[in-house]
Amino acid sequence: MAEHYKPQKYKAWELTLEERFQEYYPPLSEREATVEANRCLFCFDAPCMVACPTHIDIPTFIRKISTGNVKGSAKTILESNLLGATCSRVCPVEELCEGACVLKAEHKPIMIGRLQRYAMDYASENNLKFFEKGKSNGKKVAVIGAGPAGLSCAGELAKLGFAVTCFEKKPMAGGLDTYGIVVFREPVQVSLSEVKLVEDLGVSVKTNMEIGKDIILDNLVNEYDAVFVSVGLGNVPDMKIPGENLPGVLDGLDFIEETKVKKLNEIKFGDRISIIGAGNTGIDCATIARRLGAKRVTMVYRRSEAEMPAYHFEYQFALGEGVSFMFLTQPIEIIGDKKVEGLKCIRMDLGEPDASGRRMPIAVPDSEFILPCDMVIKAIGQNKPNEMIAALSKYGVETRKGYIAVDDETKRTKHAKIFAGGDCIRSHGEASTVMAVQDGKIAAAAIHKQLLGTASPNEKHLEPVLTAPVK
Ligand SMILES: Cc1cc2nc3c(=O)[nH]c(=O)nc-3n(C[C@H](O)[C@H](O)[C@H](O)COP(=O)(O)OP(=O)(O)OC[C@H]3O[C@@H](n4cnc5c(N)ncnc54)[C@H](O)[C@@H]3O)c2cc1C
Ligand code: SF4
Repeated sequence: MAEHYKPQKYKAWELTLEERFQEYYPPLSEREATVEANRCLFCFDAPCMVACPTHIDIPTFIRKISTGNVKGSAKTILESNLLGATCSRVCPVEELCEGACVLKAEHKPIMIGRLQRYAMDYASENNLKFFEKGKSNGKKVAVIGAGPAGLSCAGELAKLGFAVTCFEKKPMAGGLDTYGIVVFREPVQVSLSEVKLVEDLGVSVKTNMEIGKDIILDNLVNEYDAVFVSVGLGNVPDMKIPGENLPGVLDGLDFIEETKVKKLNEIKFGDRISIIGAGNTGIDCATIARRLGAKRVTMVYRRSEAEMPAYHFEYQFALGEGVSFMFLTQPIEIIGDKKVEGLKCIRMDLGEPDASGRRMPIAVPDSEFILPCDMVIKAIGQNKPNEMIAALSKYGVETRKGYIAVDDETKRTKHAKIFAGGDCIRSHGEASTVMAVQDGKIAAAAIHKQLLGTASPNEKHLEPVLTAPVK
C-alpha cells in the first residue's frame, strides 16, 4: 500500500491543534484512484451492491473512474444516494460494501468508500449539478428534521415535482452529519454542501423551526398532502447516579458538537477524562479528547471487551490514539465538591445472558474504588425517545420499543398521511447514515405512489440491479 493511502501518522507533538482535526484519511490522488479502480473485478451480480443499503451501482461507478469519467461516476453514485459524499466518509464499509467484496478473502477489498469520496470530491470541487427540480405535480410534503433521512426524502421528492418544506430545529441542517460525526471523519462543510444540493433542487429548508414548539404538528398534517417524520433520537438519558449534575460532567453529543461549531482552542477539556460507555459515540469522544490534548482518557464499561458495542475498527483506532479501557467496571458515583474529582466505580463479573443476549454484569461485593479524573463524559446511548414521537400518538401512529412503527416496504405509519424514517424508526440493529438515506428514498417513492397513483421513476434505485451491465 502506498504511504499516501494510509491515514496521517498521528504524532500530536508534531501537529498543530488544527492539523490534528484534519480529515483522518487524505484524499486519493488521480493516479491512486485509477490504480485502485483497475483492481476491481466489476463482478456480475456484485455482492457489494447488495451489501450497500442504498444499492449504489458500485461496479459502474468504479469502472467510470478507471476510464477517467469521474463526472459520470459521481452521477451514478448520486442517483442512488444524494448523501454520497457523507456516506463515503462515515459508512462502516468493513461491515457493508467492502465487507462483501470478493477480493476481501484473497487479498484486500477494493477501497469502495475512498473511491466514492474521490468521485464526490471531484463533483464538489467542480460544482457539478446532475439533477433538476421536477415539473410541479401540485402536491406538497412537509419533512420534520433535516438529518440524512429528511434530506434524502426531501431531495428525492423535489426531483419528482413535489413542493417540499423541511423544518429543522437546529440553526444548521444536516442532523448528526453536521453536529455529531467527528470532524476528522467528516468536516461540517461536506454535510452543509449536501444540504445545499437539496436546496438547489427547490427544497425549502427552514432552520430554527421546532415542530411542537414553533409550529404545531396539527398544522402540518392538515396543510400538507404528506408528512415525513425524521427527527432522529432523543437526548442522552440521565444515569441516575449521585454527582451527575456537577460542573465537568458532560453529555457526549454536546462534547462532539463543540468541536464542530466552536474554534478548537475555545473548547474546555480536562487533563484526566473518564468516559462512561464503550459504544461508537464514546470512542469518538475519547479520540477527540486525546486530540485536544487530554493527558489520560479512560473508557469505563460495565461488560467485557467481547460485548462492547463499538465497531472493532473503532476500538483499534482508539487504542492507537492512546485511549485506555477499563472493562467490567460500573460507575456508581461522580465524586467532587464544586467540580469533578473522581469517578467511584465497582468491579463487575458476567452472569447469565440477559434479554439482549449479552451476559449480564453482576457487581463484585466490596470492590469499589475511585478513578481520579477532572471531567466525566456520558456516552451511554441516546435511547430516550424523541418528544415528537409521543405527539404522534394522537394520530394513531404506533410505536415499537419506543420507536415509530412503520410498514417496512413504504415507511408509512398507521396514519395514511404520515411516513417516518431514520433513527426514529430503528427499534433494533445498528443505526447509520446510509440506512437513514435509504429510508428517505423508500418513503419518497411510496409518497409518490400514494399521492399520484403511479410508481416513481426513482423506484429502480431502491433495489440492487444485480444483472446490470457495467457501462
Ligand atoms: C456520535 C455519533 C457518531 C456517529 N457516527 C456514525 C458513523 O461514523 N457512521 C454512520 O453511518 N453513522 C454514524 N452515526 C449514526 C448516524 O449519525 C445516524 O444514524 C443518522 O444521522 C440518522 O439520521 P436521521 O436523519 O434519522 O437523524 P438525525 O441525523 O439525528 O437528524 C434528525 C434531525 O431532526 C431534527 N429534529 C428533531 N426534532 C425536531 C423537531 N421537533 N422539529 C424539527 N426538527 C427536529 C434534529 O435537530 C436533527 O437535525 C453516529 C451517531 C452519533 C450519535
Ligand atoms: S454508500 Fe456506504 S455502503 Fe454504500 S457503497 Fe458507499 S460507502 Fe459503501
